[in-house]
Amino acid sequence: MRAKIVAGNWKMNTVPSDGVGLVVDILEKLNPSQVGDTRVIISPPFTHLIDVIDHVWEEPHVSVAAQNCHFEDSGAFTGEISAAMIADLNIDAVIIGHSERRQYFNEDDALLAKKVDAAVRHSLLPLFCVGESLDQRKSGNHEQVVKDQLTNGLFHLSPDSFKSAIIAYEPVWAIGTGETATPEQAQEMHAAIRAHVADKYGAEIAENVSILYGGSVKPSNAREIFSQPDVDGGLVGGASLETKGFVEIVHAMA
Ligand code: PEP
Repeated sequence: MRAKIVAGNWKMNTVPSDGVGLVVDILEKLNPSQVGDTRVIISPPFTHLIDVIDHVWEEPHVSVAAQNCHFEDSGAFTGEISAAMIADLNIDAVIIGHSERRQYFNEDDALLAKKVDAAVRHSLLPLFCVGESLDQRKSGNHEQVVKDQLTNGLFHLSPDSFKSAIIAYEPVWAIGTGETATPEQAQEMHAAIRAHVADKYGAEIAENVSILYGGSVKPSNAREIFSQPDVDGGLVGGASLETKGFVEIVHAMA
């Protein structure tokens, strides 16, 4: 059975003291009977990782992810944070390939593949993001774009290493725009992604990989999107910054 996951990507939002308040509030409001076996991942900025992990380490269903990592373990890369440093904080996962990193920091598939390797080398689960732009969808090329991102950024992993990966499908046109893929559009792409994984790694691994949907998920649409057979949860941006909405989204997954 593949894991059900709801991850909150705080992006570059909250100062550390607000972030700690937010995580404490979220933990307080999550109702274990409504969370069920859903795994909750909180992804704050680097400056709050230590404080946030201190609050969640005893929570069986909650873990913490970094939002990015460098591909080298150490060295003269001023301002960068390595996967080795993140792993040493007992953090479980790292987001790699978010469209904002691809778009604003020119991260291409070759670079992302090296970041994936760094994550795996340090036993961090790579939460690998893929997604097409509006133009690519309009041209009917969206499935091929997403397949290429997977092939070039993630599919160099051995089957054993790939088993630790989580995939997030995030259509760029739906991120932070208020525009959401319809449940049918999400299901269609998630099924195509799973089929692509099956072609590369076989049916059993494909059946077990969690594929999350991201792009303006909110309490009002979460349940319908999450009810699609190949949608195993969500990567939530804006709505993860507000306790009530995020908790409702987590509860919608159960
Ligand atoms: C994201 O940043 O991963 C995201 C999906 O953002 P939003 O939910 O705000 O669209």
